[in-house]
Amino acid sequence: MRKKIVAGNWKMNLTSEEGQQLTTEIVNLYKGEAIQDVVVVLNPPFPHLYPVKKLVGDTAGIFVGAQNCSDKEGGAFTGEVSSKILASFGVSYVILGHSERRENFKEDQVVLATKINQALAHGLVPIFCCGESLEIRESGTHEETVKAQLTASLFHLSPGEFSKVVIAYEPIWAIGTGKTASAEQAQEMHAALRGHLATKYGDVIAAQIAILYGGSANPGNAKELFGKPDVDGGLIGGASLKSRDFIEIVKSF
Ligand code: PEP
Repeated sequence: MRKKIVAGNWKMNLTSEEGQQLTTEIVNLYKGEAIQDVVVVLNPPFPHLYPVKKLVGDTAGIFVGAQNCSDKEGGAFTGEVSSKILASFGVSYVILGHSERRENFKEDQVVLATKINQALAHGLVPIFCCGESLEIRESGTHEETVKAQLTASLFHLSPGEFSKVVIAYEPIWAIGTGKTASAEQAQEMHAALRGHLATKYGDVIAAQIAILYGGSANPGNAKELFGKPDVDGGLIGGASLKSRDFIEIVKSF
């Protein structure tokens, strides 16, 4: 059975105090509501990783992730953070290929492939984001576009490496816009992507890969989205900043 995962992407939000408060609330709610079979990943900005990790402690089912990592192993790269450093602080996941990084920081498919290698080399689970613009969606070439994103940055991996990756389908037109893909649109894309993974890695591995949906998911629409057979959870932006909303999403399976 595939893992069910809900990952919160805090983006560049929250002060130290706010981040610690949010984490404490999420941990308490997760434990209090006895959630068991859903993996939660908190992805705060870099400085929060250490205190968030401490607050999460050994809570079973909750993990800490970064929002980015360097494509380099280490050394004279001022301002960068390597996978090796992240792993040494107990970070378990890293979001890579988010459309905001592709767009604002011009991260291309080649650099993303290198970042994926770095993450895997240090035992981090990459949450690899893919997704199409509104223009591409309207042109009808969205499936081919997103499949090509996977091919370019992931298909060099061995089957063993690839099995560790989590994919997040995030249509760019749905991120932070309040405009969610319908559950049918999400299922259609997720099934197409799983089929694409199978062409390279076979049906067994493709069936094991968690494919998350991201884009204005909230407590009101998560149930329908997560009810689809190929939607294995969500990457949540705005709604991950409110503990109650986030936990309601976690409980939506
Ligand atoms: C995201 O940034 O990954 C995201 C899905 O954001 P939002 O939920 O706010 O659309």
